[in-house]
Amino acid sequence: MTTPTWFDTTIENALINHKSPGDEHGYFVYQLEVLKAHLASLQQQDVIKLWFAVKANPLSKIIQTLDGAGFDFDVASAGELTQVLAQGIDPSRVLNTGPAKSKKQISSFVKQGVRTFVVESINQLNWLHEVVLEQELSSAETDMPKVLLRVQLQWHEGEKNPLGGNSLTPFGLSVSEWQNIHVDNYPALDLCGLHIFQWGNMLSNEKMFSLWSQMIPPLTELATSIGMKLKVLDLGGGLGIDYLGAGQTLSWPQVIEDLAIIKEKAGVEELWLELGRFAVAECGYYVVPVVDRKMNYDQEQLVLAAGINHLLRPAITEQPFPVQILREGFTSENATMQAFALHGPLCTSMDKLGHFDLPSDIAVGEQLVFGYCGAYGFTESMPFFLCHELAAEYVYQNGSLIQVRAAQPASSYLA
Ligand SMILES: *Cc1c(COP(=O)(O)O)cnc(C)c1O
Repeated sequence: MTTPTWFDTTIENALINHKSPGDEHGYFVYQLEVLKAHLASLQQQDVIKLWFAVKANPLSKIIQTLDGAGFDFDVASAGELTQVLAQGIDPSRVLNTGPAKSKKQISSFVKQGVRTFVVESINQLNWLHEVVLEQELSSAETDMPKVLLRVQLQWHEGEKNPLGGNSLTPFGLSVSEWQNIHVDNYPALDLCGLHIFQWGNMLSNEKMFSLWSQMIPPLTELATSIGMKLKVLDLGGGLGIDYLGAGQTLSWPQVIEDLAIIKEKAGVEELWLELGRFAVAECGYYVVPVVDRKMNYDQEQLVLAAGINHLLRPAITEQPFPVQILREGFTSENATMQAFALHGPLCTSMDKLGHFDLPSDIAVGEQLVFGYCGAYGFTESMPFFLCHELAAEYVYQNGSLIQVRAAQPASSYLA
């Protein structure tokens, strides 16, 4: 293989020819047409309803493209809600998840027209019910909030544990805690479903199907015991991206086939997924120049203009974004490659973007392009440390780069 699968060479010339002094510290580019085609393929099924987990990439143009593809929106903060509504999206198409919903936030979301909530605690459930009564919403079906309870499962020691660990998170509640409530006590809410999402970056169809299958019995039993008619099952996100180039990718048609079985087994009317990375990761790139190269002990090191200040994810997940050099017509076949360690400019040893094979003649001033940066890039970073620039964001459309956000110097945010 000469060109990695994550790199779309049609964008290569535009990146090579892009010269803007403000972007010498790194910038993001998203291919909107590629995204549109990908989203259309995800929508070619009638088994699941698709939401976009806005946290993966809240850029206006990305949200607008998902809107155009018929996705609805999962927001986890007031900021995400404002950004989605600012794109002209109706609040009836917004779902609110997240473990930190105060009563004040819930009240504000309901006032703004949000009518679908995943509740993650008994407090959240009670607050939402109180808010609805206080705001005297009409009892028309469209006005009554739809509520899903978020469940966190554990497998007992020694049992087959598909989650690979039982570490406790603040996402949702155990079945036994939820068993303390009864649907009849919330007449102002349409308590119609359950939400479960406790896995990340799954790359095996078989493993996901097995995980989903094992969750059905405890979930349907819970629904019955609290008097819920289980109409909606929301399986969150976590569909994986092959960041490490291990050659393992999920088959979407297989996901759909498997979920049709899950839907049937759970006996639900609707099955939901909130996709983050699987929807948007592959449409995005991050470009950054090499500012220094040195041999240190036996290691060739490249120091880049930016590192975890623009791309934090590799440091907290140990899954680097794939990278290659930006050179016209470059293929690894006609180059001598060698191993390099990639570092950023921050004064912490955490600031590294991975170990990769790159051309041995790579020079200071050349640029690298990272792939799969359409998700968990710009907003999942630590841009303020050491007062570097905020990255610019572009979309690539009709053969050219269009700026959506200009790079910003530290003076724009320092006080
Ligand atoms: C982050 C998140 C997602 C999306 O996760 P991906 O792994 O990017 O698909 C979906 N649902 C919820 C509730 C989330 O917090």
